[in-house]
Amino acid sequence: MAKLLEGKVVAERIKEQIKKDVAVLKIKPVLASVMVGENAGAETYVKSQKKNAENLGIEYQFHKLAADTSESALVEFIQKLNADKTVNGIIIQMPLPAQIDYKKISQHILPQKDIEGMHPANIGKIVFGKAIILPCTPAAVMELLKETGVDLYGKEVVIVGHSEIVGKPLALLLLEKFATVTVCHIGTSKAGKLEEHVRKAEILIVAVGKAGLIKGDLVKEGAIVIDVGINRVADKIVGDVEFEAAEKRASYITPVPGGVGPLTVTMLMRNLVEAAKSQ
Ligand code: NDP
Repeated sequence: MAKLLEGKVVAERIKEQIKKDVAVLKIKPVLASVMVGENAGAETYVKSQKKNAENLGIEYQFHKLAADTSESALVEFIQKLNADKTVNGIIIQMPLPAQIDYKKISQHILPQKDIEGMHPANIGKIVFGKAIILPCTPAAVMELLKETGVDLYGKEVVIVGHSEIVGKPLALLLLEKFATVTVCHIGTSKAGKLEEHVRKAEILIVAVGKAGLIKGDLVKEGAIVIDVGINRVADKIVGDVEFEAAEKRASYITPVPGGVGPLTVTMLMRNLVEAAKSQ
């Protein structure tokens, strides 16, 4: 039976370090959070970020803009935050209204204040192994792997999902540790090859958003399973991996909820403190 890899436990330890780091800064770091329009899901996320920030001694500045804000008006607003020396980090809440393209917007945040780690300059630094601000979910996955004590050198790692926020940057971080990385995506599934890749994974990381996509009996005996997926099924939150069957075969597995999720927001706060230190 697999050991549970609980993000909450790891997050508590990292939060203690963040508090110490905040204490030695000469300022109270400020996180500016920008939301455009109304969204119940995003508001829940904002509340959790605010609580997390305040518990760590971080000021959470919330800016809510009208739903009909244009792309250029949002860029102007971001530029004001960029120029404001009291603001250390900026986060744009998703989803954005249809008239705004997140990819365009995220490029206007100063890389030094991009605490989600999604500015092309920050993503680019990962290629050179020089990143200070890492995208939050890949950073959370790396922390969970560290928790297992596994040496990544030469390990067969299979990532399912190649999104810009999870799979692609995570593949680069794992390469940096000399893991042998296979990245699967919709093309792999359509070619009927997903199962054969999943079966060989010593470390399996799944970030797709489809409940039950990975059958538990495909998991290699003793594998480490990190399930990033979040799916609502009949009022329950589940991941992308069939948990009960996978748990019997894996050596470590993340629960959903309670695995990667709680660490992701902690990584955001760690990025903010790193940003404040470097400014
Ligand atoms: P995206 O929709 O951006 O990416 C999903 C990826 O899965 C794409 O690469 C897609 O390929 C691939 N995919 C889709 N269907 C299949 C399939 N049948 N077989 C193989 N690959 C497939 O999602 P995100 O990366 O943003 O998020 C993924 C999941 O992780 C979601 O459930 C999300 O809620 C969760 N998440 C959790 C976080 C946390 O903190 N725990 C943070 C971020 C995300 P293609 O694009 O080619 O179709």
